[in-house]
Amino acid sequence: MQKDQLHSNPALNYVLCDSDSSRQQYQQQMTLAAQGVERWLSDPALYSGLDVASLARAINLNIADEPQPAEQVIEQALRQYLDHSLKVHHPHCVAHLHCPTLIISQTAELLMNASNQSMDSWDQSPAATVIEMKLIAWLRELVGYSTGDAGVFTSGGTQSNLMGLLLARDAVVQRVWGIDVRTQGLPPDAQRLRVICSSQAHFSVQKNMALLGLGYQSVVAIACNAQGQMDTQVLQQTIAQLQQDGCVIAAIVATAGTTDIGAIDPLQPIADIAKQQAIWLHVDAAWGGALLLSNQYRHWLNGMAQADSITLDFHKHFFQPISCGAFLLKDPAHFGLMHYQADYLNSAFDEMQGVPNLVARSLQTTRRFDALKLWMSLQHLGTAQFGALVERGIELAQQVAAKIADDAQLQLMIEPQLSSVLFRLNNPTDVLSLTPANLDLLNQQVADHLLYSGQANVGVTRFQGQTCLKLTILNPVITLPDLEKLLVLVKQQAAVLIQKIKTLETVSQRESLS
Ligand SMILES: *Cc1c(COP(=O)(O)O)cnc(C)c1O
Repeated sequence: MQKDQLHSNPALNYVLCDSDSSRQQYQQQMTLAAQGVERWLSDPALYSGLDVASLARAINLNIADEPQPAEQVIEQALRQYLDHSLKVHHPHCVAHLHCPTLIISQTAELLMNASNQSMDSWDQSPAATVIEMKLIAWLRELVGYSTGDAGVFTSGGTQSNLMGLLLARDAVVQRVWGIDVRTQGLPPDAQRLRVICSSQAHFSVQKNMALLGLGYQSVVAIACNAQGQMDTQVLQQTIAQLQQDGCVIAAIVATAGTTDIGAIDPLQPIADIAKQQAIWLHVDAAWGGALLLSNQYRHWLNGMAQADSITLDFHKHFFQPISCGAFLLKDPAHFGLMHYQADYLNSAFDEMQGVPNLVARSLQTTRRFDALKLWMSLQHLGTAQFGALVERGIELAQQVAAKIADDAQLQLMIEPQLSSVLFRLNNPTDVLSLTPANLDLLNQQVADHLLYSGQANVGVTRFQGQTCLKLTILNPVITLPDLEKLLVLVKQQAAVLIQKIKTLETVSQRESLS
């Protein structure tokens, strides 16, 4: 590329393309960004500790008419974005199902971003389409489905659940009413439709049913047993009752790994019931699906292969950068329920020739090639080592739960099942006892203070009517001493706060006396 050409077309400085200048700038910018990441990684703090207002003051978008050099823009992003970002790999970053990522996945992201393939049609992503389909086939084999490639990568569990519920709804409406929802819309008495899940199921079941035009009222969240799993006896009673009431059950959603407790619903008995009643079974394995790679715990998922559809999420316990999920469909014919022919993407001509245009299987049109990072990760780690990383989280959760159970200041809410640990701070002493509301407040504020002091990100949730703390242990870099140290931080923070809360209580008592 000639210098004079560069002057005549400044876009050559900005667009990633074959020009000498573009290739050179790409190298330089990637290097600068990678160096910035490297510096960020070397700083051990979990978070800068800025609260919402300070952060809003610190961040200045600085968009102007005039261009700014890339070095300056990158430096701004490092200072304003990276420096105030949460370190998801930090051993005290355990609030959510939010994982650290694999280095090989970052490499994959670079390749997929630079190539910018779009998965909606084969002519926009030739190799990527074939790789995604092969990886779907591999995942189907892993879950125990028949051979084939019915499935698609998604933005995550919420979207995969939406697909399962959409197809379940449309399949049952077709069967019971003889109506094609895709073209005709819902039948007039569609409010008879129900979906059954457990009370611990992910909230996306509710949100998705609202999106599907049936409202929260269509979701029957049934009671769990003491382990937080769907109670199959209650399931059977609920099905009978709903049928007696004239409802049409579109689906049972079983969860393999509930978001808080990590409970795995009894998949085999649920599958048997679903089969007997001819009800669509969707298994939300957004978290528990990672057990597929574990020789030790894989059997916890027995029965999953009987599901009509399955949600898998790779940006959780598969250590992938956001976003990366998949939806698997047992019977490929069901994709017909959402089929749409767009002349410019998946023409009848293409489909007759067998050209795979994945837009027909997805709710999205333009779509990222997220399959690349999972594929490269599976190769690089090998499935055995991958499985061992998942098992590590489970073992660590059991170990830290045992420490909590032995600690008089702490209360273990429930034995861990996957790798989350629910616990709470107990009342300090009989003498210095807090009211139930203040004890809830104490647990909440301990977590808040730990985050705002940049020391830890601990989850806060409600369990059995009480506010409690949650450790979600996905990160295979975490050790037991890291978690023991975290428990010390929790107790130290609590000691400070108990003093404050007691002082407030005393003041308010004095005020009410005077
Ligand atoms: C996280 C989660 C989801 C939602 O997945 P996203 O990828 O966040 O959309 C659904 N179900 C379960 C059980 C989850 O844990």
